[in-house]
Amino acid sequence: MFQIFSYYSFLISLSFLCLSRPSFPARILPDSSSTVITVDTHNTTTTWHEFTRFLDAGKGSQVSGMSELKKYFNRFGYLPIPDTNNFTDIFDKQFESAVIAYQTNLGLLVTGKLDSDTISTIVSPRCGVGDTKTHNSTFHVTKHFAYFYGKPRWARQAPVILTYAFSQNHMIDYIGLNDIKTVFKHAFSRWAQVIPVSFMEIEDYPSADIRIGFYHRDHGDGEPFDGALGVLAHAFSPENGRLHLDASETWALDFEKTKSRVAVDLESVATHEIGHVLGLAHSSVKEAVMYPSLSPGTKKVDLKIDDVKGVQALYGSNPNFTFSSLLASENSFNKGIGLRNTRPSKWTISLVVGILILFLCTK
Ligand SMILES: [Zn+2]
Ligand SMILES: [Zn+2]
Repeated sequence: MFQIFSYYSFLISLSFLCLSRPSFPARILPDSSSTVITVDTHNTTTTWHEFTRFLDAGKGSQVSGMSELKKYFNRFGYLPIPDTNNFTDIFDKQFESAVIAYQTNLGLLVTGKLDSDTISTIVSPRCGVGDTKTHNSTFHVTKHFAYFYGKPRWARQAPVILTYAFSQNHMIDYIGLNDIKTVFKHAFSRWAQVIPVSFMEIEDYPSADIRIGFYHRDHGDGEPFDGALGVLAHAFSPENGRLHLDASETWALDFEKTKSRVAVDLESVATHEIGHVLGLAHSSVKEAVMYPSLSPGTKKVDLKIDDVKGVQALYGSNPNFTFSSLLASENSFNKGIGLRNTRPSKWTISLVVGILILFLCTK
């Protein structure tokens, strides 16, 4: 009885999947799609469902709620606050320019419209550091890494040793301090392997070059966090040294143990934010550690050629580093990605179940 019930309830529930209309037909949504995602810092939360109304909006369209989406673009440096102090719901020429700049910076197809890829990227959790106040290399178009304005770096006499410390008062209680320290040790070592800079943990927080802590909401630096997902973390350019993580996230060391659908990999975010601390801004290469967004449940800790070239242009190369070892690890990473992408999608499963139901009904 139980087995028959399970079998039919399985079929019925999957047939719902089959009958439900895909909201973004061109692309499978990120796994976080059913969770509430904060999209701006103006006390407004929006679920991804609300984004479907913007799909394929372009210049001249008027969609209710577009003003909230414009706040998101303002938050990350793409759109200035208008003279009237209020954004409108009209997709005007200025917003089109902002969408084009966003698509260029995020490595998306530049359409100037809110296509499904662009909306999927907007709903992905991301780093709080803005994208556009950066200095791109204009001489080598193949480079995609970028720097902060003025190309700041840690100007120290060789050998460069940067110290780091953790705030005793701003930690999270569900991950032990020693585990957090191990995660950051690994993250720092990835950058130390490619540049002649080493990192040393010290106990004295105020005197450390790099100061790490977890903070809730408004924490006094003008860059308030926004609760779960949305903005995950931020760090400041050299030689500021502040590296802040949003204490409201479900941080994970191991997705096998932290089974939450909204869990975010601490090591991936730590590696990304250390890149900012060293002077790298966001990259438009999706595979790069310095790409601004990271979906829950994904791990991205290995530096890519783009990350390495960017940071080495600031500090030079670690004499022990070779690009051949990096290429070997990138190839194995790409194979890993390929394997993950072969996982059957929701729509493939729906199609198979649909055919199965049709077969049962015609018997
Ligand atoms: Zn960032
Ligand atoms: Zn902060």
